[in-house]
Amino acid sequence: MHTGQCFCGEVKYEIDGELFAMYCCHCSNCRKMCGAAFTTNGSVEARAFRITHGRAIALSLRMGTRYICGECHSWVYADGTYEGTVLFPCGTLNEPPGRGIDFHCNVEFKAAWVEITDGKEQYPGFPPEERLIWRPNGD
Ligand SMILES: [Zn+2]
Ligand SMILES: [Zn+2]
Repeated sequence: MHTGQCFCGEVKYEIDGELFAMYCCHCSNCRKMCGAAFTTNGSVEARAFRITHGRAIALSLRMGTRYICGECHSWVYADGTYEGTVLFPCGTLNEPPGRGIDFHCNVEFKAAWVEITDGKEQYPGFPPEERLIWRPNGD
């Protein structure tokens, strides 16, 4: 289980089990929402993710819906790239996730000053579905 929260602590969440994927996203939405060169996101099944405190406000953006804290407005989670998944910025986790990143995605849009040197796999856009969705029973 993992827990996390927004900047001010009003919105808190819990995740059952482990993160299926953890990756660096270089898209401009992630960059601008976090004000960082890129974000490290976690991907989990939607049913494993729940808000335990506070209210998150839905923002409808071109690339899908993202949810921010109603108080401090920091980004807490988003509808996943693929149906049935949720993604969230790993910087909101309360404890270290106990794993490293799997890959980089949306590298085509990365900030000009970023050089990727960790040797992890890179995708120009989003990765194939199997990198972001856990289907334990093959369904
Ligand atoms: Zn907040
Ligand atoms: Zn992104």
